[in-house]
Amino acid sequence: MLNKILKDAKTIAIGGHIRPDGDCVGSCMGLYQYIRDNYKDRKADVYLEDIPESLKCLPAVDMIRHEIPADERYDLFISLDCGDKERLGFSGALFDTAGRTYCIDHHISNLGFAQEDYIVPDASSTSELVYNLLEDEKISLDTATALYLGIVHDTGVFQYSCATPSTFRAAARLLEKGVDGPKLIQDTFYEKTYAQNQILGRALLESILFMDKTCIASYVTKKTMDFYGVGVKDMDGIVSQLRLTKGVEVAIFMYEVETNVYKVSLRSKDRIDVCKIARYFGGGGHRKAAGLTMAGTYRDVINNLSERIEAQMENPQGR
Ligand code: 5GP
Ligand code: MN
Repeated sequence: MLNKILKDAKTIAIGGHIRPDGDCVGSCMGLYQYIRDNYKDRKADVYLEDIPESLKCLPAVDMIRHEIPADERYDLFISLDCGDKERLGFSGALFDTAGRTYCIDHHISNLGFAQEDYIVPDASSTSELVYNLLEDEKISLDTATALYLGIVHDTGVFQYSCATPSTFRAAARLLEKGVDGPKLIQDTFYEKTYAQNQILGRALLESILFMDKTCIASYVTKKTMDFYGVGVKDMDGIVSQLRLTKGVEVAIFMYEVETNVYKVSLRSKDRIDVCKIARYFGGGGHRKAAGLTMAGTYRDVINNLSERIEAQMENPQGR
């Protein structure tokens, strides 16, 4: 229960991973609103990098802090949806100076970097884990909206195998608080800007099949991103679309973050544990969805990744 996590902390910082996604923002804002609603004598602040435009419809996102005020220090730092300390980014400085640290997460690659934690690798989302810690009758519509959004995003709208009966039960309770589910799903998950659709189209057009058509890969360079006027926050969903290709086991999508440095997203349909591959190269994530950053040309990156994928295909028990 949350009482046990907060204990007597009067000041609480909440932080999530760099390049925050739906579950990261949803879990942070859900917990933040719940503390604000129900622990009026405590001070809570959320620290996140700039969030995607489509998530700015969530209540209270204007309260998110993007930098640390001088000399700010908290009794408790709660890390949400973040698999390792480095991925906290700028808020890691507050983690270091906090009186206590606590981590709530569902990444299988999370080795427990906080003093105490609640890590459930099989959970659909960090938002579902946050929901489990709250007293249902004290959840406001704003808290429910944020947590519902987080669950929707990390389950691909309840599609992935991580969406279990307990996920649906949590989602049902959140809907009963009055969440406008269809609108939230449409506005934050499916809707794309024209430029986002263009870059998706471009990535699909340039994609290649390899390893007997069991893998698909595509990439966009910084130059192409500039041409279409898109940034890193516009890349969501491209790798999921690649993964839908019939016959494909693994999808790889990468975009250039600086010259010959790529942010790579990996998705698996079933057999391949892409988290193992991401971890091998210093990244992490989940069995069927993982990510990493890699240096080299597009070809180098694909060659390095294919080696690991091939090894797993040949020896599914090993790596
Ligand atoms: P995405 O491909 O959407 O960026 O990320 C897929 C999953 O892998 C997410 O759960 C995300 O948190 C995790 N992930 C992505 N990139 C990295 C990374 O560089 N390091 C770690 N540890 N996890 C990552
Ligand atoms: Mn998550």
